[in-house]
Amino acid sequence: GAARARYVAANPASSARYTDALAVLPGGNTRTVLFHEPFPLGIVRGEGCVIWDADGHAYVDLLGEYTAGLFGHSDPVIRAAVVEALENGVTLSGHPMAEARFAAAVADRFPSMELLRFTNSGTEANLMALATATVATGRRRVLVFEGAYHGGVLSFPAGYDPKSGGVNVPHEWVVAEYNNAERARDAIRGAGDELAAVLVEPMLGSGGCIPADPDFLAVLRAETERAGAVLIFDEVMTSRLAPGGRQAALGIRPDLTTLGKYVGGGMSFGAFGGRRDLMARYDPRRPDALAHAGTFNNNVLTMSAGLAALTRVLTPAALAALNDRGERLRAELNRVFAGLPARATGLGSLLTVHFTDRPLRTGADVALGDPLRKELFFFDLLHRGFHLARRGMVALSLPVGDDECTRFVEAVADFVDERRHLI
Ligand code: PLP
Repeated sequence: GAARARYVAANPASSARYTDALAVLPGGNTRTVLFHEPFPLGIVRGEGCVIWDADGHAYVDLLGEYTAGLFGHSDPVIRAAVVEALENGVTLSGHPMAEARFAAAVADRFPSMELLRFTNSGTEANLMALATATVATGRRRVLVFEGAYHGGVLSFPAGYDPKSGGVNVPHEWVVAEYNNAERARDAIRGAGDELAAVLVEPMLGSGGCIPADPDFLAVLRAETERAGAVLIFDEVMTSRLAPGGRQAALGIRPDLTTLGKYVGGGMSFGAFGGRRDLMARYDPRRPDALAHAGTFNNNVLTMSAGLAALTRVLTPAALAALNDRGERLRAELNRVFAGLPARATGLGSLLTVHFTDRPLRTGADVALGDPLRKELFFFDLLHRGFHLARRGMVALSLPVGDDECTRFVEAVADFVDERRHLI
């Protein structure tokens, strides 16, 4: 209560922005994830790893746009590529020269993506991957996992009932427990020759930064192969965890992969790709070609920014350094939390703070964490100058340095000291 009241008092301009937005956007909002009571901040500017809100407060941006902001704000190389693109026009009614070069850079980085296509978002990439799998197999069922998030219309929170539908795109969903290899095997064998695909995040991202057991993913690989179903890795978040994504780190080759977020250099982006025989179905020279369209799939700004980002900014060495920094940060946070029902989970540069002492392996485990403690953590850290996701997620960006990490750990230690009786 007091933390919220302090927030309201400190943010009159954000409050006014919110009131205006309520007139035309439901709940003042066009991205549900950004909503929180009493109102979210209006952000006016970003530079490096700092953002400024409408009331002039500066924050270290540890949210990194839910992993899409990996390059921080206005990376000079990406900025120059975007400016150059702008100067040559951005709606060119054709193929910009950067398109195929960017695709080659993506395929080079993620070798299982023998052929790929661009989309505007990770959601679309997953919709297209699912469409590919259902058409290729002539089957309808899709196995997904509790706690998974694959996009606004592909969301499977703990307790999700496939019969209720919600806003999810209609598929014959089968929902199984994450990280439970035995049940996944049963579900795949149970669906038999009706199973089109298994869609899985190699780490539950939005669902709480819960890594998949390598054995769980290996079982999915073996069983889909046996069932003649398509294994789709949603690496929209996890592709940043190693140069070739989580699949390369684990040595597991999915049939299709979906990408999104940072890969477009901070512009709207998605891609799906994989096995040549599956993706070649989109070759328009084929008489039986599948259609795949989208005015902005190859938009000039994304193609230019993504090409610069992948080939000139995010070298494998830069990515390794970022993930090492994340590993150190998570270890330091867990030292601060030692002995308390609190923990940072995740891999590399992605982590989520949870307030529970239960083991965290599934979507249901995460859902049992205490939302009030999370809220307190969020508002207290904001007050101390650190902007993270309301759900306690941190996605490091390249400009976040040792100094910011040290100060963040100190701020969390202060939080723990001050609120120990509440944790
Ligand atoms: N898949 C995963 C794993 C995600 O985390 C997200 C976004 O948070 C998506 C898909 C959807 O991507 P987009 O927001 O670009 O539609």
